[in-house]
Amino acid sequence: MTEHDVLIIGSGAAGLTAALVLAERLKVLVLAKGALDAGSTAWAQGGIAAVLDEGDTFDDHIRDTIIAGGGLNRRETVEFVVEHAPEAILRLAGLGVPFNEEAGTLHLTREGGHSHRRIVHVDDATGFAVQEALITAARAHPNIVLRPHSVAIDLVTDRHRAGTSRQSEAGTDVGQRVWGVYAFDAQTGKVECHVARSTILATGGAGRTYLFSTAPRGATGDGIAMAWRAGARVSNMEFMQFHPTCLYNLEVKNLLITEAVRGEGGHLRLPTTGERFMPRFDPRAELAPRDIVARAIDHEIKRLGLDFVHLDISHKDPDFVRAHFPNIHERLLSLGIDMTRQPIPVVPAQHYTCGGVLIDQAGRTDLAGLYAIGECSESGLHGANRLASNSLLECFVFGDASARDILARWDDFAAPPPIRPWDESRVTDSDEEVVIKQNWTELRRFMWNYVGIVRTNKRLERAAHRIELLKNEVNEYYDHFRVTADLIELRNLLQTAELIVMSARARRESRGLHFNQDYPATHPAARDTVLVP
Ligand SMILES: Cc1cc2nc3c(=O)[nH]c(=O)nc-3n(C[C@H](O)[C@H](O)[C@H](O)COP(=O)(O)OP(=O)(O)OC[C@H]3O[C@@H](n4cnc5c(N)ncnc54)[C@H](O)[C@@H]3O)c2cc1C
Repeated sequence: MTEHDVLIIGSGAAGLTAALVLAERLKVLVLAKGALDAGSTAWAQGGIAAVLDEGDTFDDHIRDTIIAGGGLNRRETVEFVVEHAPEAILRLAGLGVPFNEEAGTLHLTREGGHSHRRIVHVDDATGFAVQEALITAARAHPNIVLRPHSVAIDLVTDRHRAGTSRQSEAGTDVGQRVWGVYAFDAQTGKVECHVARSTILATGGAGRTYLFSTAPRGATGDGIAMAWRAGARVSNMEFMQFHPTCLYNLEVKNLLITEAVRGEGGHLRLPTTGERFMPRFDPRAELAPRDIVARAIDHEIKRLGLDFVHLDISHKDPDFVRAHFPNIHERLLSLGIDMTRQPIPVVPAQHYTCGGVLIDQAGRTDLAGLYAIGECSESGLHGANRLASNSLLECFVFGDASARDILARWDDFAAPPPIRPWDESRVTDSDEEVVIKQNWTELRRFMWNYVGIVRTNKRLERAAHRIELLKNEVNEYYDHFRVTADLIELRNLLQTAELIVMSARARRESRGLHFNQDYPATHPAARDTVLVP
């Protein structure tokens, strides 16, 4: 067992932001299930939204966020995040993030749904630069211990106190306190118990629930599933954002073509006739919010039996295209596509998890001692749809807010009690790894087909039945065999899929990212879907 002041699960933008603030006074352990930079943060291309342009205002950013969010946003959270954005950018610049500048000021790009140029960026690889700067600062800090390749399995709560038995784990932890986590060390194959006075979940999203996703392999909803199992409420899981433009390539399934290509004048066209079709769907055409663009592409693909549509910026000066999109340009060239001369074949793909563990403005969950921040949380910022480039921002603002809340309450946090070690009775190695692979593929495929961009009651019911079957199979497997990283992820994916379907079935309207053909209208009153364990 290891003991630290604070335990953070996740080394992305949210986790490391919190770690750096906490480390001013406390000892912090940060776990990551793979390499430290393997989360979504390093993959973010477009940038970070902040009001910095002359003529732009906080009110405009707040309004744009709430319009994109279908009115479901919690206004006080939106105000809190938007108003803290400029200082978050300053902090990152202070850590050495080399944001692009023009004539001595930050260069701002424009993205869909934003009424002003508002996106601070580092070429088209902003997340990579941010992740690098955060890791460098965390590595240099004497109060931070970084533990990559350590896969959190389940939260440690009062039910795991020494003297209790494994049988006592049945039931729910509602109202209990969190003391840390059991984690599988992928290098030694051992399960360790890490305890702390306070635990922060910063585990990212659940994109890999779907067949096509722009998210990295580890986006399996682990934090959401762990918090739910431990008794925390989860909300708005039906709002899955699909990025409209992922490269259509059967080998490379997750190359995102940033929104900024449309922001800088790229057009969506039918590959058959060359027609620019977005003006038929929305007066903002290619700059309409993501859900509208993704649904329009999905509609055209299904209507015409296409595999993809075209995203075309070849009418712009080639030097302009190369200068603005150096990384995408290079990557596409390596796949035989020259975006300065030809259109890019694109399809929509899962991109962002709007729902998550329900938190307050300090990142606190329902469970004492447990915080959740970043993409695994539901703070009220995004509502029914995330406005582009607001998500990294949420990580920085809530990373900072949760850390400051812990520092302010530190004297009230009790020291962890003695905790039972991990139950080693499940010592048999599985001889049927194929079960995991089969279930993983099956789950992602039916989630794509039944719980994707357009939903119906019947499809959701079918998905629910299949989840039930797979859950029984995987739980039985989990009870009998030694844990592996793949098994932990599959169990979490299934739990998250169930939460998505439960939320989608509970919403009897269409709003933002959730579109159900059986309930196409939007209710006058916006209500969150809050699932109670
Ligand atoms: C291709 C792409 C482009 C994007 N572009 C933008 C953009 O331009 N602007 C923007 O604002 N947002 C963008 N986003 C979204 C944004 O990148 C994410 O929302 C954000 O990075 C999430 O940060 P996070 O810290 O919450 O999680 P992540 O960065 O995903 O980090 C999650 C961390 O948790 C760890 N973890 C997960 N499960 C476990 C476990 N069981 N045990 C231990 N550790 C665990 C992971 O190892 C990782 O360290 C993009 C996303 C993608 C996929």
